[in-house]
Amino acid sequence: MSSVLELESTPEVQDLRKKIGDFLSEFIYPNEKILDRFDDTSRATMKSIQNEAKKRGLWALGLPKEIGGGGLPFMHYVFVNEIVGRSEFAIAGLGTHSAQDATMLYLYGNPEQKKRWLQPLVNGDIYPCFSMTEPEVSGADPTGLQTRAVQDGDEWVINGHKWFTSGANVAAFATVMLVTEPDAPTYEKFSMIIVPTDTKGFNIIRPVPVMGETAGGHCEIRYEDCRVPLTNLLGPRGQAFKIAQKRLGPGRIYHCMRWLGQAQRAFELMCQRALSRKTFGSTLAEKQTVQNWIADSAAEIQAARQLTLNAAAKVDAGDEARVEISLIKFWGAKVLHDVIDRAIQVHGALGVSEDTPLAKMYRHARFARIYDGPDEVHRMVVARRILKEFKDGRTYDFGRGVRSHGFKTEL
Ligand SMILES: Cc1cc2nc3c(=O)[nH]c(=O)nc-3n(C[C@H](O)[C@H](O)[C@H](O)COP(=O)(O)OP(=O)(O)OC[C@H]3O[C@@H](n4cnc5c(N)ncnc54)[C@H](O)[C@@H]3O)c2cc1C
Repeated sequence: MSSVLELESTPEVQDLRKKIGDFLSEFIYPNEKILDRFDDTSRATMKSIQNEAKKRGLWALGLPKEIGGGGLPFMHYVFVNEIVGRSEFAIAGLGTHSAQDATMLYLYGNPEQKKRWLQPLVNGDIYPCFSMTEPEVSGADPTGLQTRAVQDGDEWVINGHKWFTSGANVAAFATVMLVTEPDAPTYEKFSMIIVPTDTKGFNIIRPVPVMGETAGGHCEIRYEDCRVPLTNLLGPRGQAFKIAQKRLGPGRIYHCMRWLGQAQRAFELMCQRALSRKTFGSTLAEKQTVQNWIADSAAEIQAARQLTLNAAAKVDAGDEARVEISLIKFWGAKVLHDVIDRAIQVHGALGVSEDTPLAKMYRHARFARIYDGPDEVHRMVVARRILKEFKDGRTYDFGRGVRSHGFKTEL
């Protein structure tokens, strides 16, 4: 951890974070209301922001240089995400939005796939979407997914029903997780197949409205005899779980750092409002309850930050860090949610209006407890792994690492 803190205070990382913070102040915050409209003006504004980010060398910083990214080392990019996360529009504005799909294509795409989809993706010319979740079966346990691709000559024929394919309404292609090997063992049944969204049989039924929003384009899609060439298979047959893991692992750390940026922004809005609003003869800042919220939020943000950096340091050292990543996924989402909730409360009616960014932040914080694995699933992963180690004679000692415990665990 000390080397992580040392890295954070290097002039290189400080300078990068400052540049990105300045970029948000100059180009993102003043345009948030326009960007939120998702109309032609907002698209043109986003394009000009993206061009400015490219000009300033702030574009797609986490992706490899050879494909047009900034080539930042993993830990540097971890710190960048905390600043980017302060506004959700900075994610697309700085070319961070497609990092997970770009990583998948970079690691598993063949040369033709990379040329057709990866390069324009990294350039920001097209958007991707990821199509896994289905309304009829659990997304938390995707071993039951039902969408199928059957080989017919030199094509895959896809049939199935998906929803919450975010961004499908603006994407150029979907990476679909589906069954190709029905007779294989559970974790080898599924493959990833790339489907251009203009393919016949890729039928968007609707963007599902979520908590009053349709803007995220969380689309319900029917794949109806949807045909794509066999060469659209991404990576080896039957390896979708492995590919999905590569997509999600470090991605969850970036997510959690961005949530910390959001929580920090909500925290600042809460402090500002507490100091400027008077009730019953004194400012809100003078009320004990509000002071408690500020103190609790300060403690929770710092604790979540240490947890996240700890997980990041483990990943950086080559560890899969499954326990640490699951810990920050559910704990980070809770901190994000609770801090924004308190900030809204301090703002009163203004907090639930769309006049501050808080209402939207709150909705998205609620989603964070569900996507990329609901809270309960990550808790289950943590507890199962800890208990398995314990049963085998080892304890997760958070001061000294995994070590033998010396207890008897047999009945
Ligand atoms: C805003 C948003 C964007 C999304 N974007 C995408 C996307 O782009 N592509 C995509 O494919 N999917 C996307 N999803 C879907 C997301 O991946 C799924 O919602 C998630 O995997 C959960 O699946 P489910 O909704 O089917 O819930 P279910 O699997 O039905 O689970 C429902 C609830 O059951 C509980 N539960 C589940 N398992 C356990 C357990 N073991 N122990 C205790 N409780 C449990 C949890 O509380 C969980 O919330 C998105 C979701 C949201 C909210």
